[in-house]
Amino acid sequence: MKDLHIISEQTVALPNTAYQARHFINGVAQDSADGRKSDRISPSHGVVVSQAALGSEVEAEAAIKAARVAFDDGRWSCLSGKARAAVLNKVADLIEANVEKLALIETLESGKPISQARGECGGAADLWRYAASLARTSHGDSHNALGSDILAVVLKEPIGVVSIITPWNFPFWILSQKLPFALAAGCTCVVKPSEVTPSTTAMLAEMLVEAGLPAGVCNIVLGYGNPVGSLMASHADVDMVTFTGSTAVGKMITKTAGDTLKKVALELGGKNPQVIFPNCDLDGAADAVTFGIYFNVGQCCNSSSRIIVHEDIADAFVARVVEMSRRVAFGNPLHPDTQVGAIVTPEHAAKIDGYVRAAVAAGAEVCIGGAALSVPGLGDQFYQPTVVRGVTADMAIAREEVFGPVLAVLTFRTLEEAIALTNDATYGLSAGIWCDDIHTCLEFSRRAQAGTVWTNTWMDGFPEVAFGGVKQSGQGREIGSYGFDEFLEVKSLVMRVGRTRAPWVKRA
Ligand code: NAD
Repeated sequence: MKDLHIISEQTVALPNTAYQARHFINGVAQDSADGRKSDRISPSHGVVVSQAALGSEVEAEAAIKAARVAFDDGRWSCLSGKARAAVLNKVADLIEANVEKLALIETLESGKPISQARGECGGAADLWRYAASLARTSHGDSHNALGSDILAVVLKEPIGVVSIITPWNFPFWILSQKLPFALAAGCTCVVKPSEVTPSTTAMLAEMLVEAGLPAGVCNIVLGYGNPVGSLMASHADVDMVTFTGSTAVGKMITKTAGDTLKKVALELGGKNPQVIFPNCDLDGAADAVTFGIYFNVGQCCNSSSRIIVHEDIADAFVARVVEMSRRVAFGNPLHPDTQVGAIVTPEHAAKIDGYVRAAVAAGAEVCIGGAALSVPGLGDQFYQPTVVRGVTADMAIAREEVFGPVLAVLTFRTLEEAIALTNDATYGLSAGIWCDDIHTCLEFSRRAQAGTVWTNTWMDGFPEVAFGGVKQSGQGREIGSYGFDEFLEVKSLVMRVGRTRAPWVKRA
C-alpha cells in the first residue's frame, strides 16, 4: 500500500450544514406528509451531508396524479417544439451556472472526485441542449406513393406519463440522459433518484421552476425503491418506466409493469471486456484499461472489469497496468487532483472484497491491491487498485459485476477464442478491442454481443450516439435520436382524397 498514490488532504471545505432535499410535486417543494427523512453520510468523510424527505405511497400517488393531469390537459405536450426547446435550453444555462453547487453535493453523497463531479454536472448541460434540438427537429413520415387518392402520414406523439428511476453512481448525469429527452418529446414525468444520492435531483427542481417549466410537468419523489419506485412502476396512470440500475431490480420492474403493459426501458449492469492484441498501441491500451477499471472506483455500468489479453503479451501488459495503477491518485474526493474516491457504502466495500477473496480461494493471483485502502484522516471506506490474474471464465469475478476497482485478467490465443470469451456472459452492455488491423477490429465489432463496441478507445460517448445494452444489460436505447424516440408513440393517419372508396355494401 505504501507505493500507491494516495491524497489525504482537501482543498474544498465541507459545508457547515447538511443540504435539505425535498420532494417537488405539482410545482411545490415539500416534505413528506408523515415528516420522515433519511440522513446521507459522506462515504469519504463520515459526516451527515444531506437530509432527504423519505416518500411513501402518499407522495408517489400525488406526483403521478399531477403528472397525469398535466399531460392530459396539454399544458406541455401541446406546446410547440420551439417553446419546449426554449425551456430546456434555459435549464441547461442554469445547470452551467450552478455546477459548483451541484458538483459539491454529488461528491459528498457519492464519494466521487470533485473534478469528475464537475465534469459530469457541467457536461449534463450539453445533454439538455441536445434534447432541446430534438424537440424542434423531430418529425414523422409521409407516404405519398400509395395512389393518387390516398395520403398517409405517420405522426410521432409523446407517450404520456413517464416514471424515471435512477441509480446512485452517476445521479445527475443519468437523470440528464432521460429527463430532457422525455420533456423534449412532450411527456410529463415522475422522477425518483436513488435514496443514497437524492440531492442533485432535488436541486434541479428550482432550476425547472426558474426556466419556466409548467407545474406538474416534472415531479420528483425522494425515497426507497419500495414503496416509491414500485408504485411508479405499477401505477395504471403511468405509460412508461425508464429505469437505470441493477439487473435484479430491472427484472422486478418488468414484471410489475407487465400488469398494465406499460412500456419499459432498462439500462442495467455489464461485465465489459477489452480485448488486447499484440499489434496495437500498447501504452494507449494499458492507459484505457487503467481508466476503464478505476473510473468512478469501478462503480460504473461501463466499467471494463475484465480484460482478455493475448497470451504472448500478457505478462508485459499486466506489468504495465500494475505500474500505471500505482500512479493513479486515490483518496480525498475534495482534492482536485484526486482521480478515484470512496466506495459508496461499507456493505458494498465488503462485497467487493468478497469477490477478490473468492477468486484467490479458487486459484487466482492478486498482482496488486486486494484489500481495503485506509486514507489518513478519512478512514477505510476506500479500496486499493486491484489487478487479479489467473482468472478463469467460470469464476464469479469474471462473470458478475464486482462494481469496484478490481480488474480480472483472462487470456486468449486466437480471435475466435477472444470472441467466445467476450460473448460468454449474461450481460451485453459494451466491449472493446485494441488492434491495429482494421479487419480484425471489424470482425470483432460485428460479432461481439454488446450495445456499444469501442475500437482503440474506451468509453467515449456523445449525446448524439445511442447507448444501451443487449442480453441482460437492458432493453431500449438512451440518448441520440433512438433514445428520444423511446418517449414517442407512433400514430398512422390514413386519408382518402376525394370520394373514391369502393363501397363494401352492395348498393340497393
Ligand atoms: P439499484 O437497482 O439498487 O437501484 C436503482 C434505483 O432503483 C434506485 O433509485 C432504487 O431506489 C430503485 N429501486 C430499488 N428497488 C426498486 C423496486 N423494487 N422498484 C422500483 N425501483 C426500485 O441499482 P444501484 O445500486 O442504485 O446502481 C447500480 C446498478 O446500476 C449497477 O448494476 C449498474 O451496472 C447499474 N447501472 C447501469 C447503467 C447503464 O446505463 N446501463 C448506468 C449506471 C448504473
